[in-house]
Order: sequence, then structure tokens, then C-alpha cells
Amino acid sequence: MKIAESLLHHCHEVGSQCVDFLFPPQCCFCQQSLNGPAEFDIASARKITQPQLCKDCTSNLPAITNNHCLKCGATQGPHIPADEGCVYCQSSRFSFSGAISLHLYEGNFRKMCQFCKQDSGQRLTGYLTEQLWKSEQSRLKSWQCDAVVHVPMFWARRLVRHVHPAETIANCLAKNLRVPFWHRALKQIRRVPHQANLAPSKRRKNVLDIYQANHFHHFKEKTILLIDDILTTGTTASECAKTLKKAGAKQVHVAVLARGTGR
Ligand SMILES: [Zn+2]
Ligand SMILES: [Zn+2]
Repeated sequence: MKIAESLLHHCHEVGSQCVDFLFPPQCCFCQQSLNGPAEFDIASARKITQPQLCKDCTSNLPAITNNHCLKCGATQGPHIPADEGCVYCQSSRFSFSGAISLHLYEGNFRKMCQFCKQDSGQRLTGYLTEQLWKSEQSRLKSWQCDAVVHVPMFWARRLVRHVHPAETIANCLAKNLRVPFWHRALKQIRRVPHQANLAPSKRRKNVLDIYQANHFHHFKEKTILLIDDILTTGTTASECAKTLKKAGAKQVHVAVLARGTGR
């Protein structure tokens, strides 16, 4: 039995190295080959299963900061109090209890988030979600969420856009948190203009009552982690949180890759 296991393991290692040779691992953003010895250790071929960024793209990312505004998730300087709201959310009221983000939606990170919306961007979404998990897992765990759901996309939009980063992020975080991923727990029942094309003052009215909870899930008294890729004014996430609470959820927390600053 042990010989068979060892043979199988050996075959797997050899197979992985052959795949590496035929399909060299690439940076999941710029697609540059990672075969250079400094960037990819050929001996540990298992790395191929994990999306990676090249050195150039990694150095273009902002530094991870662990000081986030507890209300809206915006990253901020180390000496600014986290529990008093920030410049981006002081005048906002949200139906969710708190939010977390990886970085502000600016510069190179903004370009990466836009790439995540493309068909070839799913590996990058997976990579960035892992970074969010690594830097914020203690807060994500502290929320003690019962399930993970994502901000939905209108069905007609799904027909033309095959990639929905919020869904990928939700799936990855649910696995890491070891809680159920409630796929399509929310649905958008009306087509409305895209939030990004509207002035911030018009966004709340635009999304008012456009979401519905799918009642095949039991939301009653549950704490829910709501996922989107970008949170800008927070009106979309807040409306989704309102809908989840109407369906019985006790509390809703939000996690996003990027906190938009509206600039
Ligand atoms: Zn790269
Ligand atoms: Zn804030």
C-alpha cells in the first residue's frame, strides 16, 4: 500500500514539473513568465496551483496597512483613530455594521481591480482575496459570520459579463472561514443605471428596493458577511445589508478588495 502511495506521489511531482515545463507559470496580472529562479522555485512545483504576482507587479502594490476605518473599511494612516469614521464616511449612514478592504481604489491597485472584471482576471481576484485574508483574517473571524453572500448582478448583465469578482471573492473567503457560501442569496429585481455612472448624490435613490433575498436560505438571526469587489459610496452594500436584515439577518458585515474614494 505504501509503495503504491509513494509511486502515486512521485507521479504527481513529475506530472507537476512537466506541466510547468509546458505551461510556465505566469504573473496573474501582467502575464510575465515567472520561470526566473528568483521568482519561481522549480523544486516546489506545487506553487503552480496558486496564482502569483511577479516582482514588478508586487512592488507596484501599496503597502498593506492594518489600520482601517471600522465603519467603511478605508485604509488610513497608523495614528488615526479607527472607530470615529473617516474622511470618506463621516456623513454616511450604512445598514451594515462594519467593513474591511485591502487597499484604496487608487493607482495601480485600481488597474488591478479593473482587470479582475475581465475574463482573464479571475486568478488575480483569487490572489488579491488571499492577500485580504492574510492581512485581515483576525477581524474577519471575529465577526463570527454564519454565511457569506455577494452583491448580485442583474441577470441580463450576467449574460454579457461572465465574470463576477464579488462571487469569486465570496467563494474564496467562505472556504477560508469554513462557513457556507450562499450563492445568489440576493437577487437584483430591476435593471438600473450603473452606480459608477451616477453622481454620488443620486446613487442611494438608484438602488432603493432593487434587491430581494432568496428565501431558500434561512437568514433569521444569522450574521452575514456581504462581499463586493469595490465599495465607493457604500450605498449598494448598504441597500443589500438592509435587504438581508429585512429577511431576518441579525447583523451584516462587509468585505471588499477596494475602498473607492470617489476621486
Ligand atoms: Zn506582473
Ligand atoms: Zn470610513
